[in-house]
Order: sequence, then C-alpha cells, then structure tokens
Amino acid sequence: MMHGHEDHCDVLVVGGGAAGLVAARVAADALGSRGVVVLVERMTRPGAKLLLSGGGKCNVTHDASPDRLLEKGFGRTRERRFLRTACYAYTADDLRAFLAGYGVQTVVRADGKVFPASAMADDVLDALMSGVRHAGARVVTGTRVLELFDTGEGYLAGCGAVCFRTRKVILATGGISYGHTGSTGDGLDMARSLGHSIVSPGAALAPLFLKPLPGRSLAGKVLRGVVLHVTCGGKTVKAFGDILFTHKGVSGPAVLSLSRDVAELYGQGKDADVSIDLFPRLEHAGLEARLLDYTVAHGARQLSRFLGEESPLPAALVPFVCRRVELDGALRLAELQRSDRRRLVACLKRFLVGKVVSVPLAAGEVSSGGIPLQEIDPGTMASRISPGLYCCGELLDYAGEIGGFNLQAAFSTGWLAGTSAAASCQQDA
Ligand SMILES: Cc1cc2nc3c(=O)[nH]c(=O)nc-3n(C[C@H](O)[C@H](O)[C@H](O)COP(=O)(O)OP(=O)(O)OC[C@H]3O[C@@H](n4cnc5c(N)ncnc54)[C@H](O)[C@@H]3O)c2cc1C
Repeated sequence: MMHGHEDHCDVLVVGGGAAGLVAARVAADALGSRGVVVLVERMTRPGAKLLLSGGGKCNVTHDASPDRLLEKGFGRTRERRFLRTACYAYTADDLRAFLAGYGVQTVVRADGKVFPASAMADDVLDALMSGVRHAGARVVTGTRVLELFDTGEGYLAGCGAVCFRTRKVILATGGISYGHTGSTGDGLDMARSLGHSIVSPGAALAPLFLKPLPGRSLAGKVLRGVVLHVTCGGKTVKAFGDILFTHKGVSGPAVLSLSRDVAELYGQGKDADVSIDLFPRLEHAGLEARLLDYTVAHGARQLSRFLGEESPLPAALVPFVCRRVELDGALRLAELQRSDRRRLVACLKRFLVGKVVSVPLAAGEVSSGGIPLQEIDPGTMASRISPGLYCCGELLDYAGEIGGFNLQAAFSTGWLAGTSAAASCQQDA
C-alpha cells in the first residue's frame, strides 16, 4: 500500500550505477521538454561501484569492435547473442567519445583495457553525472525504491515517504555483490513481483576460499602464467593466467575468470579440488627432459635453486613444493633419483592447493544470475512480461570477464533501455 507524497514522471530510472546513469541521460536527451525523467538512487551519491572499479582507476571499457569485445568478454554464446544489439548500438568508441566530450581522455593499455588517462574513476563518474544533468534528468539520491506496481497505465514506485507515478520504468539496480555500494538485489525482488522469474544469483569474478589454507607466508604472493585446475564431481574446469594467494585462499585473474564455473559446479554440493599446473607450456615428458638437461648442465646445484630459477614459483612457495614431494631443497640435482624426478614433475604439473570451501558471492566483482535473458527483448531491453518495464545492467543474467566488459555491457544496455523507453513514451503520446 502506497502513501505519502506522490510525484509524477514519464520515465523513472531505478538505480544510479553505470547502466542507470546512461539510461537516464539518453532518455532525457530524447524526450527533451516532452517528458520528465527521474533517476532514483538509494545511496547519498550515485556510482559507488563504478568508483571501486579497476581498483579506483576504472577500467571503463575494452578497445575492440563490438563482435570482438563480445567474443573476448563473454564466454557464453547465449549472453553474447543477447548483448549484441546493445553493444552495436552503443560501442566502446561511443563511450570514449562521450567521455572525451566531457574532457575525460582515455588510454588503451597493451592488453586492450581502456582507462581514463587520469586513472581516476571519479572523472568517469563526474562525466556521467554531468551528462545526466545537461540532458535535464532529475536525480533523487538517498531514496530507495521499495516496491513497484503495475497500474495498467504505468507504474507506481513506492519509496516510503514518497512515491512516483510514471509511464515507464527502467530497472538498473545492479547485481548482488559488494552490498555496501547499494547493489543488494532489490531490482530482482521488484522484477519478481511483476511476474519475472529470477535465475538464482551466483558468484562470478570472485576469489576462492580454500581449506586447508595455502599457508600464511604465501598470502600476497603471485604465480604468473600458470594454469588453474578445479576438479569437481569428475569434471575439470581450467583457466590460464596469474594467481594470487590470499589469507583465505586464492584470487587473481585466473581464479576470478574461473569462479563462475566453479560456483556452478561446487553449488551441486560436491568436493572441488584446486590444483595448479606450474609449467603449463610443457607436458610431463617435456618438463622431465628440461629437469634432466638442467641437471646435466648444473648437477651440483640445489633443487631449490632449480625451482627458484626455472619455475614461476615465488621463493616462499619453494619449500612447500619440496615438502610435498618429500625432498630436501638443499639436495643436489645430480643426487635426485629417477623416482624423485618423476614425483617432482607430477607435483609441478599438478600442485594441489586445497579444497574449495566457498566461492563468496558478496566478494565477486560481478554476480551471475538475475532476470533471465529470454524474458527481455534484446533489441530494446523491454520486459517481455511487464509492458512499460525496461531492464539493464548487471541485474540481467549475464556476467563478463575482467577487462572493462562488464561496464561496457552496463553502458550499452543502459543506452538501449533509455532510448527505447523514451521512444515508447513518444509513441504513446
Ligand atoms: C571491486 C569491483 C571492481 C570492478 N572493476 C571493474 C572494472 O574495472 N571494469 C568493469 O568493466 N567492471 C568492473 N566491475 C563491475 C562493474 O562495476 C559492474 O558490473 C557495473 O558497475 C554494473 O553496473 P550497474 O549499473 O548494472 O549496477 P551498479 O553499478 O551496481 O549500480 C546499481 C545502482 O542501483 C542502486 N540501487 C539498488 N537498489 C536500489 C533501490 N531499491 N532503489 C534505488 N537505487 C537502488 C545502487 O545503490 C547502485 O548505485 C567491478 C566491480 C567491483 C565490485
């Protein structure tokens, strides 16, 4: 039941993150004086998650054509297909041109990641906010939309003391992670109340918490260019990249990239073993041959020196490997028996780190799950269930890789939702 002051608008955007800020700007731009656009944000300032992104430097997008961006950033065909129209409608170049228009130059790193030249997420947020203001949308902060009703002629959005009567609603409330930024999944409850089915949220781009813990002395140490394997219920998923040891387990690009698959496998209630191939470019036989060659050349050197020089192991991990294969690091390579060598090679190719105890949803840079893609028209971001409702950003059931893909998806779907909601208002008129 709604009470309190009633306010009116044509398009109500719920959530002032990357998607909502773009949606509000383009809807207000398109409607001009013909309609009122209001953006409601529950936090005192919009864009809290954007400010955290890229460690505060904001990896705002990826320098690639829309097709290439989708191919690199979204592993699942269904998600790539869904996002295609949006990513063509509002491209990485469009975003960069918009930012440049507000004085925010961007730079492309060798790996394709795009950052503001100032390396400050604040600059990106300021540009987005200026865009919203110039377009004439009203921003209401510190106001949480608690419920949404379809009135038949539009929607009523209840925010406690105030409610908004609106013709169109754009839901842009984000995923469910880093709850202190305001993204706690409210939009999913509202979408459910309007008839949408919700895919259970899961962790993505999240660390893995392990048992036993890899060891306190390892926290903060990085392994570069290795392959992470996670085996669960007879199925193995793997990812190449860097791994960071943490106080609770492992993180880093390879772990984050694999976490969504791990969460899905592990969620089936089975044990998940985490191991690392420290020499992914060599097969067992190749690695053994390399060890033998090294031994022929430097037989008097100690095992620990070989591991320190020839493997990606940080010094702190060398004793762990030696202990695992029950060999003294001070042993001279020439003294290694054939069986020792075999054991060592097997360990280096599959260094068991521990078992997964959690893939924490709250610590994921993004969450998977949300509003099912088949319930949204990919050409407009309009709900197929509740006419007049548009959905964009991370509350949709997609999750991209690290590299600027998630923000670009939020900007692109936000752009399409804002444009379509405004066009639909004009058609009604
Ligand atoms: C630590 C971290 C680092 C990241 N780094 C990057 C990166 O470098 N590059 C990249 O591409 N992606 C990155 N991401 C992911 C990216 O930030 C998100 O995918 C993106 O911000 C999602 O945008 P969104 O607009 O859909 O949702 P959000 O940014 O989560 O915005 C949703 C907004 O809705 C508001 N809201 C929620 N419920 C209500 C309600 N009931 N009423 C009113 N307002 C509401 C919230 O307060 C929030 O402001 C990172 C994420 C994290 C957590």
